[in-house]
Amino acid sequence: MSTETNRTLTSANIPPERHVKVLGGQGWVGLVDVLGTETTLVNAARVSFGKRVSSLTERDVTLLRYLLEHRHTSPLEHMVFTFIVHCPLFVRSQWHRHRTWSYNEISRRYTEVDIEFYVPPHVRAQSADNRQASVDTLSAEKQEEARAAMHAAHRHALEIYQRLLALGVCREQARGVLPQNLMTTFWATVDLNNLLHFLELRDHEGAQWEIRQYAQAIKQLVRPLIPHVAEIVGW
Ligand SMILES: Cc1cc2nc3c(=O)[nH]c(=O)nc-3n(C[C@H](O)[C@H](O)[C@H](O)COP(=O)(O)OP(=O)(O)OC[C@H]3O[C@@H](n4cnc5c(N)ncnc54)[C@H](O)[C@@H]3O)c2cc1C
Repeated sequence: MSTETNRTLTSANIPPERHVKVLGGQGWVGLVDVLGTETTLVNAARVSFGKRVSSLTERDVTLLRYLLEHRHTSPLEHMVFTFIVHCPLFVRSQWHRHRTWSYNEISRRYTEVDIEFYVPPHVRAQSADNRQASVDTLSAEKQEEARAAMHAAHRHALEIYQRLLALGVCREQARGVLPQNLMTTFWATVDLNNLLHFLELRDHEGAQWEIRQYAQAIKQLVRPLIPHVAEIVGW
């Protein structure tokens, strides 16, 4: 039973062309399922005229451009994507602010296996003039020292967690000592309109580097499925 559970929650179980690794290989995002194509989008837009096509023509691409440029967004809601995401808890928190997605996540109330912690491949310094931003100015030595401190904190948190479980403390309370760098896995389903909105906000210089890596990975996964849309929105 537990083997089956683990198999579905690793990138090894997703074909190479359907997942992208991020955060120096510590995280990944996979494409689980897709409903619809670019043809679906133009058919949805034209349903008001009772027209339907089975493949895209130049005219349809012009229509797609019109829809995107004029924010005629409802036809975009007829194409739907499901992703599986493996990321640190703090990325999960930022992601789940996007309320138009549907989510299901591994629960640490049910399992205490496969505990992993994210350690940044590049440790950044705090920006002096923007409280939400970071900069690449830390020396290699300081980055190494920071990473060693993170490893030590993770080891300590895991020891306490295991001690609590050994004492008989329930998983749902013991998990409270695990830090924000804990890796989690969730499914996320979204329509194309809200996906484009997410990517605009999260593949942006104002977004945290870590979530930006996921947004860029998603573009890589979906670009072949929506080549005209990708070109129109300037990816
Ligand atoms: C760079 C950056 C920094 C951020 N910093 C912070 C922060 O410091 N603190 C913080 O709390 N959050 C922060 N956020 C989160 C941000 O406020 C949004 O919650 C998040 O980006 C989701 O955007 P959204 O609401 O547009 O997306 P979704 O929730 O996916 O919604 C998409 C669109 O649907 C509509 N919509 C959805 N729900 C409602 C609703 N209830 N009422 C009306 N319209 C709705 C809106 O038009 C919305 O734009 C940050 C986001 C970014 C990108």
